[in-house]
Amino acid sequence: MKEIDFVKFNKNRTYIRDAFTKKDGDVVELAGWVSDTRALGKIRFLMLKDISGIIQVVAVKGKADEESFELIDKISRESVIYVKGTLKVSNQAPGGKEIIPLETKLISKADELPIDVAEYSKTELPKRLDYRFLDLHRKSVQAIFKIESTIMQAFREFMVKKMGAMEAQFPSIIGSSSEGGTELFKAKYFEREVYLSQSCQLYKQMLACSIEKVFTIFTVWRAEKHNTVRHLNEARQFDYEQAFADEFVVMDVLFECIKYIIKEVLKKNKEELEILKVELKIPKSKYITFSQVKDLMKKNGVFCPDHDLSTEAEKKLGELYPDTVVFVHDWPIKGKPFYIMPKGNGLSGGFDAIYKGTEITSGGQRVHIPEILEKQLRERDLDPKDFKSYIDSFRFGAPPHAGWGMGLERLTMLMLNLQNIREVTLFPRDRDRISP
Ligand code: ATP
Ligand code: MG
Repeated sequence: MKEIDFVKFNKNRTYIRDAFTKKDGDVVELAGWVSDTRALGKIRFLMLKDISGIIQVVAVKGKADEESFELIDKISRESVIYVKGTLKVSNQAPGGKEIIPLETKLISKADELPIDVAEYSKTELPKRLDYRFLDLHRKSVQAIFKIESTIMQAFREFMVKKMGAMEAQFPSIIGSSSEGGTELFKAKYFEREVYLSQSCQLYKQMLACSIEKVFTIFTVWRAEKHNTVRHLNEARQFDYEQAFADEFVVMDVLFECIKYIIKEVLKKNKEELEILKVELKIPKSKYITFSQVKDLMKKNGVFCPDHDLSTEAEKKLGELYPDTVVFVHDWPIKGKPFYIMPKGNGLSGGFDAIYKGTEITSGGQRVHIPEILEKQLRERDLDPKDFKSYIDSFRFGAPPHAGWGMGLERLTMLMLNLQNIREVTLFPRDRDRISP
């Protein structure tokens, strides 16, 4: 294997996308993966791909340098190579241009592939996830994660530039259950038992009471036993919290945020959306009360429990309001956690947002009054003593505040019309999978 001076290479490198803008006869230096090779008499074809695109390399026996011809003749798929060559305009070449090699170097040879990484590959998802690192050689898989990256970037941009919010980091190790649920993972912490955080709810609230507008991208762990296509045991959440606000203020923020994210993806990821054949639309909004949803479901013959939306009801909302973020507010207090503000008449300041038939966000006005918190904890058979420091944090000048949490993977999956949340998770953690 010939050595490559990577400092020099990075100065001279042409990305394949840019190679197509060069003139006939220009010499370029490329590096990438072997997508395919083909032999035709004395000619050898090689499709070379990098993160930006794919181009044909053509070597003719006797004309190309001997070493390049030999390398292209024998190289295995997905091997990594360096090619210095002359750009040639050619009507037969995909994209109208090809590379005639002057010098070729093998950088890393690939063994026989355990999964098919062709774009039309029929390999099933679990097998693909076993070899996720190799699955990522595919353009369509790269497209998903390029879009997810834009989504994260856009969320941050919206929060900083449009809302003037501050980004914050919170602990993932907690001493007691933050929400009183049973879906917690236990861990050993020296001589004690601790839990992995299921949300940063309590911390972001404490922060909003001084910083006013805060956001984070936070990893949460939930020991949900069932394997579904929309749940992970480790997921990422966009969290937002704002002081001097009720649920209607933060629902508007959420709608503007989702529109901003989608506009950015439409602007920055045209090519990726095309690869994935996704027609993404800027959504409309619909505000509806929980009791109106119940009536609507009754009319449509869809079952809906008293305090929560069933999966079927969420689906129906998606059908009735396509490409719409449906805000279901005035939610029964019985169906919401203790930190959601009661409004009287059994209702609360809690809401859920449904997009394309699935919940993407829960949020609401929080309780900033210690006595109400204690009452609501007791009503849920939780002991206020276990939440003392949280409750006490609202005793010294806590403004009313509201916020929400939106699943990153959930949002990405729904935006891209994908059927399984694992498609949009690089290295998913579910009941059966903890590697790679
Ligand atoms: P669901 O009812 O869909 O199970 P949830 O009400 O338990 O969700 P929340 O605690 O409200 O979830 O979390 C806020 C958001 O985080 C959800 O609306 C969803 O987008 C996302 N989310 C929650 N749990 C998971 C999970 N297990 N895997 C992936 N995303 C999740
Ligand atoms: Mg929820």
